[in-house]
Amino acid sequence: MVQVSAASPVVILVEDERQIRRFVRTALEAEGWTVVETDTLRQGLTDAGTHKPDLIILDLGLPDGNGMELIHQVRGWSSVPIIVLSARVDEHDKIEALDAGADDYLTKPFGVGELLARVRAASRRLQAAGGAGGAIFRFGDVTVDLNLRTVLKREATVHLTPIEYRLLSLLIANAGKVLTHRQILREVWGPSHAEDGHYVRVYMGHLRHKLEDDPAQPRHILTETAIGYRLVQTAAA
Ligand code: CA
Repeated sequence: MVQVSAASPVVILVEDERQIRRFVRTALEAEGWTVVETDTLRQGLTDAGTHKPDLIILDLGLPDGNGMELIHQVRGWSSVPIIVLSARVDEHDKIEALDAGADDYLTKPFGVGELLARVRAASRRLQAAGGAGGAIFRFGDVTVDLNLRTVLKREATVHLTPIEYRLLSLLIANAGKVLTHRQILREVWGPSHAEDGHYVRVYMGHLRHKLEDDPAQPRHILTETAIGYRLVQTAAA
């Protein structure tokens, strides 16, 4: 039996590798999370329904099925952040999971710093979505006013084309989260352009050129190799 206190946020951890469960539990409990853990898809689905989690951490390869099924089911009724755990060999599964609505992923083996950074980013997004929603978004020396639709870099106005602005808005709405090429195409260009991956590359290049100090070494608009892009507010090292 797990005692769930009302004060602390609840994470459901679905993972069949005992060592990873122990590692994640220890790290998150130290940060004040209540961890509800299970090693099967079936129990994970039950826990997700009964515990009203603030976060789900999900292994895809489970003994009684594919974690993807949990993403599909949970996304039918909840936007709770889902972080997927996957083996390095399962690159394709990772993209499929993100497309299905997972927020982020960690590739095994991962360290405690990486885990906590992803968890913090997911929690921040949840709070931002639940709050009044700031109209001003800043990263580096860039300030975006989402009401006025203005973009400043070091006090100077940056002129963006409508597509560039739409792309930037999408990145801001999902700050910290990985967006797959497919998701970006669908949101910015529409479903009929799902295969036109080069659009994304070209326009990300434009945004970097206008907003990054060194477009060749971006610190905020980051590439997730073979997967997509991620906007980070705190500059990458
Ligand atoms: Ca597994």
